[in-house]
This record gives sequence, C-alpha cells and structure tokens, in this order.
Amino acid sequence: MVLHPRMVLRTAVAVAVLLGLYFGTALLDRHVAPVVEASLPWSAVPPQGIEAAAQPLGTPPVAEESEAYKLLEPPDSSQPFTAYDPCRPIHYVIRPDGAPPDSEALVHKAVAEVSAASGLQFVYDGPTDEAPSNSREPYQPDLYGKRWAPVLIAWSSPAESPRLAGDVAGLGGSSTVRETGTPYVRVNGQIDLDGPDLAEILVEPYGPDRVQAVIMHELGHVLGLGHVEDPDQLMYGGPNSVTELQDGDRAGLAVLGSGACVPQL
Ligand SMILES: [Zn+2]
Repeated sequence: MVLHPRMVLRTAVAVAVLLGLYFGTALLDRHVAPVVEASLPWSAVPPQGIEAAAQPLGTPPVAEESEAYKLLEPPDSSQPFTAYDPCRPIHYVIRPDGAPPDSEALVHKAVAEVSAASGLQFVYDGPTDEAPSNSREPYQPDLYGKRWAPVLIAWSSPAESPRLAGDVAGLGGSSTVRETGTPYVRVNGQIDLDGPDLAEILVEPYGPDRVQAVIMHELGHVLGLGHVEDPDQLMYGGPNSVTELQDGDRAGLAVLGSGACVPQL
C-alpha cells in the first residue's frame, strides 16, 4: 500500500496491515492431477504451460548491491521467495472506471520500469470491466480464456474497495499457486488504485511522477516485495517523496526476476 503524501506530517497508521492482502485469500494449492483436471469444463485451473518458453524471456540487470529490500514471505518456508515464472509474459489489464485523466500512460510507464528492473516481460491486454475483489479468482476462463487471469490494475475508490479508505492511495498483491512437487509461483495479481486520491496527487504540488510512483510501489508488492524501513526506498511502508526505483528496490526486483520456470502450472 501507499499512503497519500498528505500524510507526510501526520502519523502513519496501520502501514503493515494490508501487506499481502490478496496473498492469503487467493492462495490456491493445486493437488489434483492437472491433465485430468484441466480437461474438465469446471476446471479450477488452466491447461499447463500456456505460453511457457524453454528459457526466461528476459534477464534482470545486474543490480547494485543493496540489502534495502524485503521479499514477501512464501507460504512454504523452505522456499526463499515466490516469484512470477520468468519463462512467460505477465499479462495485465486496466479497469479504467474512475481513472484520472491521461493516467493510462502512467500505468504503462510504471510497468516498463519494474519490467526493466526485474527482466520480467509484461503484455498489455487492454481494458477490462472486471471489478477488483478481495477474493478474486486466479482463473476466469469466461472472461479471459483458458489461461491464468491477467494482473488486474483497477482504478477504484473507497466506496468500492473499502481498504482504500482514509489516506491509502493503493493496494497490491498476487495469487500464489503450487503444483504438487513444484515451488509456489505467482500467477496473477491485483492493484486497487484510489482514483479520487490519485486525481488530487496528479496535480500541483505533487504531479504525475508521484502517481506513477504509487503504481510502481504496488507493482512491487505484486511481484513479491514487502515494505522496508528505509524511507529512501520506493518500497518504504510510510509516506515519502521517492518517485523512482532505488538501489534496494532494484536489488529486490532483480531477485524476483530470477525465479524458477514452472511449466507444470
Ligand atoms: Zn505498500
């Protein structure tokens, strides 16, 4: 989450509460034999290996050494972290209702920044009318076809997403899935952006860079970064004025771009 910058001089509350908001609720542990399951019309998972290449589609750049990052804890403590499969593109869609004017380019720029820092490749699938949900299904074949649903970047409001109430400007997280015998993998996620709050941030004295920073921060959560206590990092858990990825953010994203390829999912 990111707090509205107006909070700078006030006490930040409940900063850590929303970490991994979607992580727990959408956790899916796939135990059923996938070949059988995926052939059934009521299947809860897509066919295996959609778009999976033999090699990672990109490589993370060599990041400056930094320990100013935190990886979100995986559900299985024997695994160091959970990441997206680098052998496949990460698809994303935008739910534009309530978006501030000219904000779409900021989303794509934010995606391009985290893509460059992680080596993970993203593909924009266009707008959607899917509403954000705390219990979003990671597989929605009726809406998106027989593949994992894309990352949903939803312009929303506190009325629709109550956790955006107060000075919270954005929320982000991912669904994590495991095939028996393979590591947990992030398959998709969701970002809720507070349209009214961010429309205010878009104008003076803040500006579009601050809105893009909020989106990059939430993308950091989606890819697997948690909050850090260093206020000079974009992934700082409280309000700050950082608008670009910093050394710790970049080091963390480079780690998250080096996850395992899991074609079994
Ligand atoms: Zn956050």
